[in-house]
Amino acid sequence: MAGSGNPEPAFCVETVLCAESISKSFDSNKVLDDVSLTVERGELVSIIGPSGCGKSTFLRCLNFLEIPDEGTVTIADDSIRRAGGPWKSSDEALAHRLRAHVGMVFQSFNLFPHRTVLDNVMLAPRVVKHVAPAVIEAEARELLAKVGLEAAALRYPATLSGGQQQRAAIARALAMRPDVMLYDEPTSALDPRVAEEVLEVMRALDREGMTQIVVTHDLRFARAASDRIVFMDGGQIIEIGDPDEMCDNPRDPRTRRFLGASV
Ligand code: ADP
Ligand code: MG
Repeated sequence: MAGSGNPEPAFCVETVLCAESISKSFDSNKVLDDVSLTVERGELVSIIGPSGCGKSTFLRCLNFLEIPDEGTVTIADDSIRRAGGPWKSSDEALAHRLRAHVGMVFQSFNLFPHRTVLDNVMLAPRVVKHVAPAVIEAEARELLAKVGLEAAALRYPATLSGGQQQRAAIARALAMRPDVMLYDEPTSALDPRVAEEVLEVMRALDREGMTQIVVTHDLRFARAASDRIVFMDGGQIIEIGDPDEMCDNPRDPRTRRFLGASV
């Protein structure tokens, strides 16, 4: 527009997570080799690749469940740089802060079996947040409603279906108001109909603007729901791209081979 000075950009991107040159070995086995990924707020990024290529290790390095040998992870305002050497207690303190930005969901749900669903969701905020229990409970019930489990609040995990347990695990991960949600094959233990309930929750979170990184074997979901797909092989990111573009026209022969074998 003429004479308007500096126009507002059409959209504003904000980097939420930045992993730079992450490397990780188990003994002499180099499992991650110089892996870098930047994720913007509100993105849903799927990570695909053959079994054993390092997907879970990479995800775990993002919140220091696994400690990278080298590289830098920045999430929101917190950053940890590793350059070999021992893991110090000051590093652990930083990792603790960094983890507070992250919610993680595993294939195997990992709910506390001797606590109700509501207790599972309230547990972390009750320990960490200095707010009245009634406020924490109201927030937890709101999250359970969001994942369609308001009626199951007082049930124990073992009495729920796998899909319900996984949705409870998502509510629990959301309870600390994370900047980014990480999922490691969230639907691999579920039959397709039940998996769909979990995927729908993730789609709804995407519509609300949650940032999500999903390791998945579900290429249909990855293609339909992701903003970008990351293809990993042999401990490296081989290709990152627009889902349709990557699925219809993979650039690298390894991506082509993987996608060819997966359809
Ligand atoms: P993916 O999730 O892509 O299937 P992983 O990240 O689980 O792959 O594993 C990558 C490689 O690292 C595999 O060879 C696996 O055996 C190895 N690995 C993973 N975790 C450990 C560990 N804690 N100790 C030793 N080796 C591991
Ligand atoms: Mg894995």
